[in-house]
Parts: sequence; structure tokens; C-alpha cells
Amino acid sequence: MHAAFACSEGCPGEFPLFQPRYECPRCGALLEVRHDAAALRARPRAEWRALFDSRGPASPWPLASGVWGKREWVLPEIEDRDVVSLGEGWSPLVPAPRAGRALGHERLWVKQCGHAHTGSFKDLGMTVLVSAVRRMRRTTGGPVAVACASTGDTSAALAAYCAAADIPCAVLLPRGKISAAQLVQPLSHGARVLALDTDFDGCMRIVRALAAEGTVYLANSMNALRVEGQKTVALELCEQLGWTVPDWVFLPGGNLGNTAALAAGFEMLHASGIIDRMPRIGVAQAAAAAPLHASFLAGLERLEPVAAGPTAATAIRIGAPVSAAKALRALRRFDGRVERVEERELAEAAGLANRAGLYVCPQTAVALGGVRRAAASGAVRWEDRVVVLATAHGLKFTEFEQAVVAGELPGAEGAAGNRPIELPADLDAVRHAVAP
Ligand SMILES: *Cc1c(COP(=O)(O)O)cnc(C)c1O
Ligand SMILES: [Zn+2]
Repeated sequence: MHAAFACSEGCPGEFPLFQPRYECPRCGALLEVRHDAAALRARPRAEWRALFDSRGPASPWPLASGVWGKREWVLPEIEDRDVVSLGEGWSPLVPAPRAGRALGHERLWVKQCGHAHTGSFKDLGMTVLVSAVRRMRRTTGGPVAVACASTGDTSAALAAYCAAADIPCAVLLPRGKISAAQLVQPLSHGARVLALDTDFDGCMRIVRALAAEGTVYLANSMNALRVEGQKTVALELCEQLGWTVPDWVFLPGGNLGNTAALAAGFEMLHASGIIDRMPRIGVAQAAAAAPLHASFLAGLERLEPVAAGPTAATAIRIGAPVSAAKALRALRRFDGRVERVEERELAEAAGLANRAGLYVCPQTAVALGGVRRAAASGAVRWEDRVVVLATAHGLKFTEFEQAVVAGELPGAEGAAGNRPIELPADLDAVRHAVAP
């Protein structure tokens, strides 16, 4: 199969994937990767399913990766020697009925995308982007460096994949606005870490300018190669549901690249005939940074950027999402819905979910808060199968989890107050405390 960049708004023309390019030269819209639709349909759907079913964690490298096990649909023309894989994908899809009951919707599954090398779903896209960079460097000598703006998880993933492939990288972070674990990761991998006195949107403006002048290759999700890897989450979750489609997929929305990717995955499954219906997509935003929600209320035609205020969900504190146009199109196509989740609601959702055995990051808590709202309003019906994309591991957000359990966040009072019980090393005292 052949694949190339094309304008996401439909301008004519195709551009090679292995040359730096992010926007349409005619209209300035983001690019998307166009696959060979005829080749996709030429293979019967039973054959596609059998091919994907035949690959899994026990397959030979790099097919063991959840992303590269779908390589024909991702980056068909990459050679094995250029693939930079750290074992991404195949995150568990877990039924979570107890957490679901607590949140008002029992038929809940959680796709644990944070069970990944760097602890977030960003690995799915970064393996594709960095593999493409390795190929470009081998064949053309460039680009000399890769860079991204980040609310934390993108930089961790970029730094790890670049370090594995010995490619120089720089990450631009808003100073003081990301968690300690997220700052440690790129530092530990030897990335050049620039902490700027601005917010995420400010970092994004600077890195876009650097990419436009050719100083760096851009690794943010406005680079369509990221979307290609991230879209495999749709393929995986359908496969994990026996190639059936859930009624809803909910996810937290920031820059909205992942929303675009999820939709792209389902579009491709549909075009191949593997699935014959589409899920609805539910995006949840923190109230402090909810430009997509405002756009939803106004009919999903356009998005008005906002100044993003503080929220515990730091990874989605974004007021001017770069993939807005793609996400709006996806939501129109997938009968989408956007929920706006207040800080106390996200804290409460985290407390309830953690008490039911999950360990959710604040962004996933926003998504769960969104499901709760959508179920309460009747938009999600009791019989609907709902999958939530858990975007990062709770262990990356220890400050948040501590605040929830310490009762420092309004809304999480029900989950708070559990403290270590300090005792002498005395059998009777311990027996009494263990089973009071
Ligand atoms: C990046 C990220 C998001 C937001 O994804 P977008 O593609 O920017 O909408 C949500 N949660 C976590 C944990 C992330 O790292
Ligand atoms: Zn265009």
C-alpha cells in the first residue's frame, strides 16, 4: 500500500511522508495521511481481520508492537531497520463495572493507554514520527533535531524515542505547569529541556516558528504522522471487543489530535469493511480550558480560542487547540458530544474511580466526569457500551493523587481521609487494626 500527505480540507495534491511538511501550501490547513483506498478495499475484510488477529505481543519484532502490527495502515513504506519501537500499544481494555456504577453508568470499559513505556498514549504516535525521522536522517541526512511543545507527556515520549534512536531533541515546556514526574522523564533521557515563562499555547507558537524556518522537525500532533500511530487505538479496542464497535468512546480533549486520531481509526475500519457502524465520540474538557465545549454549544462549526485557566488536568490545559478543525469534522461525522467538567467534578470522579480499583490521571478523571454528565442527562443510555480512553497512568500524577486522598481537592471528600495507621510492631495492636 502507498500513503502520502494530503490537505485535510480537500485541496488537490499529495506530498511525500518522508519530507518535513505540516500544513497545506494552498490553504494552510493541517495535513492528513491519505492511504490507498482501493488497496484497502481490494483485500476482503475477513483477510484484514485475520492478518491483524495473527499479530500480537508474541509476534516477532516489530510486529509485536500494537502500532507496527498494523503497519500496512500506519506507515506502509517504512523498513524494519528504521522502526524505533519501545513496545507500544496493546494496552489492556478493562471492564470497570464497579467504577461505572459509582459514576452512574455500569457498562463501562477503560482502555488503559497509560500502560505504556512513557506512561501515556503519546507513545503510539511518537514511535511513528521518530521512525520516519530515522529514515529521513538515513536517506537525506536531515533533520538535525526534533522538537515539541508539551504539557508533559509529549516531551516524555519524544525524549525516550529519540534517545533510543540517538536523535537530538528539544522540548519546550511551560515553566512550573507540569508534574515533577513529567519533567524528570525528558531530563533523564538527555533531551534539551527548555522551561519557558509562558503557557502551553505560548510554547506551541515558538516551536511552530522554529519548524517553519527549518531549524527543527516538529513533533507535535499537528504533524500528521503522530495521528497515524494514535489512530491504532480505535483498531485495538474494536479487536479487543471481538471486532465489534462500542456505542460511545469518551476521551479528554486538549490539543484535539487524539480526537482526530480516534476518528481516523474508525474511518479506516469502516472504509475497509471491517466494521459497519460507527461509535459516537464524547470529548470531555476541563471547564478552565473548554473552547471545544463552547463550539459544541454553538453547533460545531468553528472554534474560538480561549485563554486556558489553571486546572488539575494540566495535560489538557490548552486554549487554542491546533487540531480544532479536524476534531470539529470528526465530531460532526461521529454524532459527537462535548462535556465540560468542573474541577470538583473531576476530583470526585477520580476519587470514585480510584476507590473502585482504577488509578486515574486527572485527564482521565475529566473523561469519566464527562461520562457521568452524559449518563445523567440521558445522552448516554443505560444499555450503551462506553469505552473511556485512560490517556495516562496515575503514577505520572502523584501530586494529584496525593491531593485527592488527602482531601485537598474539593469534590473528592468521599475518597479522602485514608491515612497510614501508625502502630508499634505489636501483634495484638496490629490484629486489632487489621480486622477491627
Ligand atoms: C496529550 C494528552 C491529552 C490530550 O490529548 P490531545 O491530543 O492534545 O487532545 C490528554 N491526556 C493526556 C494524559 C495527555 O498526555
Ligand atoms: Zn488545503
